[in-house]
Amino acid sequence: MHSTAEENYIKAIYKLSAGGSSAVSTNGLSEVLETKPASVSDMLRKLSAKDLVHYEKYRGVLLTEEGKRVALKIIRKHRLWETFLVQKLHFSWDEVHEVAEQMEHVKSELLTQRLDEFLGHPRVDPHGDPIPTENGELRQVQQRALASLEVQQEGVVSRVKDSQPSFLQYLNRVGIQIGSHLQVLDKIAYDNSLEIQIDKNKSVILSSDVLEKIFVIYP
Ligand SMILES: [Zn+2]
Repeated sequence: MHSTAEENYIKAIYKLSAGGSSAVSTNGLSEVLETKPASVSDMLRKLSAKDLVHYEKYRGVLLTEEGKRVALKIIRKHRLWETFLVQKLHFSWDEVHEVAEQMEHVKSELLTQRLDEFLGHPRVDPHGDPIPTENGELRQVQQRALASLEVQQEGVVSRVKDSQPSFLQYLNRVGIQIGSHLQVLDKIAYDNSLEIQIDKNKSVILSSDVLEKIFVIYP
């Protein structure tokens, strides 16, 4: 059994290490978790004693296989709850992340299993991120950043890389959501922004910053 704080560390290490493949520095962690490096080191020693991480002082920290398993479980719960909140309780996609941050720590395995069944085993969450399976597998879908599309190319929004409310509210405002059909009408060479037509209807100009955070698959 792991505490909420321990789970948040494991999740942060998983995310910073791009899925557990590279070592993460104590400083990086202390920045993301807004905690003093000394407390980060204390926690890492604790997690290391539980065999969840490999930790060497000046080398950074890596998740063990068990650590990765725990991380994927937390992410699975987080994404299932986000899906539930949007589909069943009619939250909008910019409101669910904070709530899911709390729900992801509920321990009952049976609850997670029933939730998954109730939702019909969804493959992606409301932001288009893949939901790990019960066995901890992540199914990746081939997708590309909207920024990489050329003029005339089109795609369907499959994922957004930022779940901050301010970004999602911005997308609500311009009318983009998961499943929106987008076509590039023009590229503005000055700053690499693109003029995008949404659902064969209105068009908007998106900055390269926004274009990097939206992913599409071909229709
Ligand atoms: Zn979230």
